[in-house]
Amino acid sequence: MGLEAALSAEGYLTTQLQKVVNWSRRSSLWPLPFATACCGIELMATACSRYDLARFGAEAMRFSPRQSDLLIVAGRVAVKMLPVLQRIYQQMTEPKWVISMGACASTGGVFDTYAVVQGIDQFIPVDVYVPGCPPRPETLIEGIMAIQRIIDREGLPPGGGQRRPLQIAIEPTHHVLPQPVPLTVGAT
Ligand code: SF4
Repeated sequence: MGLEAALSAEGYLTTQLQKVVNWSRRSSLWPLPFATACCGIELMATACSRYDLARFGAEAMRFSPRQSDLLIVAGRVAVKMLPVLQRIYQQMTEPKWVISMGACASTGGVFDTYAVVQGIDQFIPVDVYVPGCPPRPETLIEGIMAIQRIIDREGLPPGGGQRRPLQIAIEPTHHVLPQPVPLTVGAT
């Protein structure tokens, strides 16, 4: 941040409290890895020494939603898992951010089936989409940097830190059409 240079020249530093809060918050993101498939391996690689997520202050992965402020959904989400994902999101304290990592999390990817959620943003708010199948660790880091830019620019979301919920929730006992669907061969 260059604090030492500024302090040695002037002996003091003035800033806005909001800027300091935003700076400390964006420099100490605690991700919760919701890794369900192959994208999770790339997520793990991002924290390894080669890519060193610690450079961005976001290497402290937490598996308790109450200790996390950045949800990274990496991999396909089955419909049966969706209530779990929603509950984890709701248990995270505000302010919180969400990254959808990979084609499966963002769109269902190649799994165009009734059993796979076709985009988590239909059910929880997503701030940053990281494209790829799988995305490389550099791409995920770019996504985390995008979150940092959002925090730098906006800080706390309007309305006292409460994000606007999508108000969409599904029950585990969802309605599924009987399978297999009967086919009529040779019909014109
Ligand atoms: S986007 Fe590709 S790499 Fe990621 S979970 Fe889906 S199939 Fe696996």
